[in-house]
Amino acid sequence: MLSLENVSAAYGKFRALDNVSMTVSPGEAVAVIGANGAGKTTLLRAISGMLPVTAGRIIMEGVEISAIPPHHIVEHGIAHVPENRRLFPSLSVESNLRLGSYPRIARSQFAQRLDYVYDIFPRLKERRRQLAGTMSGGEQQMCAIGRALMSNPKLILLDEPSTGLAPVIVAQVFELIRRISEEGYTVLIVEQNVQKVLQVVDRAYLLEAGTIRMSGSADELRKSDDVLKSYMGIA
Ligand code: ATP
Repeated sequence: MLSLENVSAAYGKFRALDNVSMTVSPGEAVAVIGANGAGKTTLLRAISGMLPVTAGRIIMEGVEISAIPPHHIVEHGIAHVPENRRLFPSLSVESNLRLGSYPRIARSQFAQRLDYVYDIFPRLKERRRQLAGTMSGGEQQMCAIGRALMSNPKLILLDEPSTGLAPVIVAQVFELIRRISEEGYTVLIVEQNVQKVLQVVDRAYLLEAGTIRMSGSADELRKSDDVLKSYMGIA
């Protein structure tokens, strides 16, 4: 479904992604793990067109998207849930969801998509008139994921969904991710919470200083000495 071929991206002279190649197949949940500053957010920004690539190609379902502006990339079935959720705090939950259905293909299906999102996240329906900024951190993450689902995406990019949440809420957020993956969505998630994310994905890539250091099944990475030592604090 998605492939990155030798992708590099930079902020000025600083090369934040260096020759990154990876694939995500339909229906898979794939994680990119790595420490602070490894380039995880940059990778998602490159895929959704917010940061131009300086080399390589990004291909979604056979179409090269690396040269397409970000507002058109959503039309190719990619929805990005950014770090810190970026909801509109003074708008209601439902208005935030409505903003997710702006792609042309999704607008005509607004009512059906809303029913679908409320069906999988009943809490959002209960709170539909509440201002998004007054929701708990976990509920806001649910709203941000719901907003992404409103565009009827094929691929959902999740940027550190567990950041800033209390441990009990983190567990709920990973449960949400497991659910959307079971719904059949293809998921690419970047996370620092290595232990938790490897419990909900099929495969993972380890990113270090902008390059892929290791890849394999979630099980393989969970058992790797390097991952255990550097990312799970287990010697
Ligand atoms: P974290 O887990 O802390 O969010 P990350 O793996 O997502 O980290 P990125 O945010 O992708 O890392 O950053 C990768 C590198 O690029 C870092 O060294 C960071 O300082 C640098 N960087 C990120 N954004 C910019 C920017 N707008 N201008 C210059 N450098 C940047």
